[in-house]
Amino acid sequence: MLNGQVAVVTGGSRGIGRAICLELAGRGADVAFLCAGNQDAARDTLAAIQEKGVRGAYYLCDVSDPQAVAQTFRTLTAEMGTVDILVNNAGITRDKLALMMTPQDFDGVLDVNLSGAFYCIKQVLPLFLKKRKGKIINITSVSGLTGNPGQCNYAASKAGLIGLTKTLAREMASRNVTCNAVAPGFVETDMTATLAGQKETLLDQIPLHRFAKPEEVARLVAFLASPDADYITGEVIRIDGGMAM
Ligand code: NAP
Repeated sequence: MLNGQVAVVTGGSRGIGRAICLELAGRGADVAFLCAGNQDAARDTLAAIQEKGVRGAYYLCDVSDPQAVAQTFRTLTAEMGTVDILVNNAGITRDKLALMMTPQDFDGVLDVNLSGAFYCIKQVLPLFLKKRKGKIINITSVSGLTGNPGQCNYAASKAGLIGLTKTLAREMASRNVTCNAVAPGFVETDMTATLAGQKETLLDQIPLHRFAKPEEVARLVAFLASPDADYITGEVIRIDGGMAM
């Protein structure tokens, strides 16, 4: 159980992030989440968190803006009291073949998916060091492990997250802070809704022949956030129906 712990989830309003918020709340954690601007989705997720009987809060914060992230974590820490678990989940795609991709397309994805995670980690590390305890979970992707045509920006950001995860795991282990990554394949969310036309072709690449449900990813994240995973750090766990084995 995660009673008495405070979890922060970036990109918590929708999709995988929402499922993570609800799973952590269901296990007793107070949950604060960040999102980009979809207030309707944020309010809905906040209500669902509160229905679990824990404290909840959300903050509109573009994770690619280091000043906004610093200000948000100041407010969040004051309001929630502390942070024990950080899940870096906020992510975007801007798919194009490298030949057609602009520097803005490339940097825009790196700024949110990779730099955004670093900015959030910077905000919790002093707290975690002081407490000699903390869990960081980064949501990467099988694209970061195998590459994926049309996603050189996204795959680079997700591969970068893996390097960030392993480095932090090494830097922070002596302080009892763990850092792991979860690498989903295809998950049923808004992000993959545009792939409907190619779904049959994609399913043929997945031995379990279906997309994951966000809740399946959320349960893996909750395990990594729990004391059951205290001896796991620097790990990248695929949850992809066997796609990238
Ligand atoms: P999604 O449904 O598109 O939701 C994205 C979430 O990120 C939303 O909460 C959104 O907030 C938030 N967000 C976007 N840009 C942000 C920014 N600049 N600052 C703060 N929050 C921001 O995505 P998803 O499919 O759940 O994916 C979640 C994570 O899993 C991503 O890192 C993604 O790369 C990774 N992943 C997804 C899949 C998949 O198949 N879906 C597979 C592998 C990995 P708003 O609601 O306010 O817009």
